[in-house]
Amino acid sequence: MHEMSLAEGVLGVVADAARANHPCTVRTVRLQIGALAAVELDALRFAFEVVKRGSVADGARLDIVEVPGSAWCMQCSRSVAIAGRTDPCPECGSWQLQVTGGSEMRVMELELA
Ligand SMILES: [Zn+2]
Repeated sequence: MHEMSLAEGVLGVVADAARANHPCTVRTVRLQIGALAAVELDALRFAFEVVKRGSVADGARLDIVEVPGSAWCMQCSRSVAIAGRTDPCPECGSWQLQVTGGSEMRVMELELA
């Protein structure tokens, strides 16, 4: 499961940060996940519950902030909203789109105590 390795990656980032700030516990892990990142949020939440057990993030809450997909349309010369990486421009139907947002997946913020 792809989300399981993502969760492990997140936990790695969290553990490094917690070590740098020790002693502490991690209260909240805020993730930014783009709509185009192809991440199943429920699966990721579940995977995080599994991998965090016994770690420094054991009591942590996962807070996911979704970033909508956006792209630059070369025909319209403007930024448009898209739901999928292979979607055409919703305005003009062109396929000449450059994805500009929504493919990210990163740890935005950690709340340590
Ligand atoms: Zn367009």
